[in-house]
Amino acid sequence: MSRIDSVVSRILPQVVALRHTLHSHPELALEEHWTSQTVAERLAKIPGLAIQTGFGKSTGIKAVLGGNKPGPAVLLRADMDALPLEEESDLPYKSQIAGKMHACGHDGHTACLVGTAMVLAEMADELPGPVVFAFQPAEEGGGGGQILVEAGILENPKVGVAFALHGWPMLKTGQVGICRGQAMAATGGFFITVRAAGGHGAAPQETADPIVISARIVEGLQQIASRMISPLQPVVVTVGTIHGGTALNIIPNRCEMSGTVRALSNEVRAQILQYIEQIATHTAAAFGATAEVKVREAYPSVYNDPGACDFIAEVAREMIGADAVVEHGPTMGGEDFSFYLQKVPGAMFRLGVDAPDRPLVMLHQPQYDFNDNSLGTGMKMMARIAVKWLQNRK
Ligand SMILES: [Zn+2]
Ligand SMILES: [Zn+2]
Repeated sequence: MSRIDSVVSRILPQVVALRHTLHSHPELALEEHWTSQTVAERLAKIPGLAIQTGFGKSTGIKAVLGGNKPGPAVLLRADMDALPLEEESDLPYKSQIAGKMHACGHDGHTACLVGTAMVLAEMADELPGPVVFAFQPAEEGGGGGQILVEAGILENPKVGVAFALHGWPMLKTGQVGICRGQAMAATGGFFITVRAAGGHGAAPQETADPIVISARIVEGLQQIASRMISPLQPVVVTVGTIHGGTALNIIPNRCEMSGTVRALSNEVRAQILQYIEQIATHTAAAFGATAEVKVREAYPSVYNDPGACDFIAEVAREMIGADAVVEHGPTMGGEDFSFYLQKVPGAMFRLGVDAPDRPLVMLHQPQYDFNDNSLGTGMKMMARIAVKWLQNRK
C-alpha cells in the first residue's frame, strides 16, 4: 500500500463528514460565504498550508503548500457553488436550504480537495515543489474561474500546470474519464428584442407584427448550424425563451427572446454570435421592424493538453488499476476551468460516481448526490498527480 493510500484510508471518514456538511448547506454562485468559511477552518488545521481567504475579493480561497520550494507549482482546483434547485431526497444530510442544492456535486469536489491538502501536507517531505489549492466560487454561471485567474491565482508561486476533476454519473466509481484536446464547449448567450408596429389583431396590414418576425428569426437561426458553419464543426443555437403579447386579439409592438450558443472552438463561437446579430437585424429590417441584439461570450472552450491527459491516464492506472481509464469524446457543456487552461497547460478529468447500489441520476437533477465512495479515488488521483508532476518536472 502506498503512502497516499494509507493516509487516504485514515482520513476518509473526516472527508465524508465534510462532504455531508457541505451538501446540507448549499450556497449559490458568489454567495458561498458559509462554505468558504467552513473550508478555511478545515484548511487552517493542516500544518504547513498558507491560506488566503477572500481571494480576488470573492469567496475564493487560495492555499499553498511548500510555497518556499523552488520551481513551478501544480494547481489543483475545486468549485464550491450549488444550484437553484429544490432537493428531492431523504438523505440525512439533505439540503437544509429551500430551493438550493448541490446538484452538480461541487460538495464532493470541495471535500475531495480539502482531503487532498491533508494527504499532501502529511507527505510534505516528498514534495519537491509547491502545490496551489484553488477553492473556486461560482462555476455555475458566475465565472469564478476568471475571477481567480485575474486575481493572480497562477502567480506566487508561478503555476506550471493545472488539474481539476468533475464527478460523472455515466462512469462507475473507480473509473476516470479523459478527453484529449477540445473537451468542452465555448459558451455564449443572446438576447433579441424585436420592435414593430402593433395594433388590432383583425387589422394586421396596419402592423409589422413582431411575433411573426420573431418566428422568422427563430427559423433563420437554424441556418447557422445547417448552412453557415462547416458541418465538421459542432454548433448549438438554442432559443430558450420567447415572450410577446398580452391577448389573443392584439398584435403587440415587441417580442423578446433569448438563448444559448455552444461551439467547440472560441473562433466558431464568435462567428455564431455575429451571424445571430446579422440574421436578427436583417430579418427584422426586411419586414419593416427593428431588432436590438445583445450577445455575450461566457466561458471559453476547455482545451485538455494531450500530454496532461496521458499523464492523468498513467496516474489512474497506477493508483486505481489497469482498466480505470475511459477515453471519451467532447461534450457541449461549459466549464470555467477553461480560464486556467487558457494561461497554463493542464486538464480536467471525469471521476466516476455511479455504482450498482445507486440509481443513475444525472447532474443538475433534484436527486443527485455525489458518491462518498468516489472521494477516496478522487483524493488518490489528485494527490498522486501533484506528487508525480512535481517529481517529473524539468
Ligand atoms: Zn453544473
Ligand atoms: Zn459542475
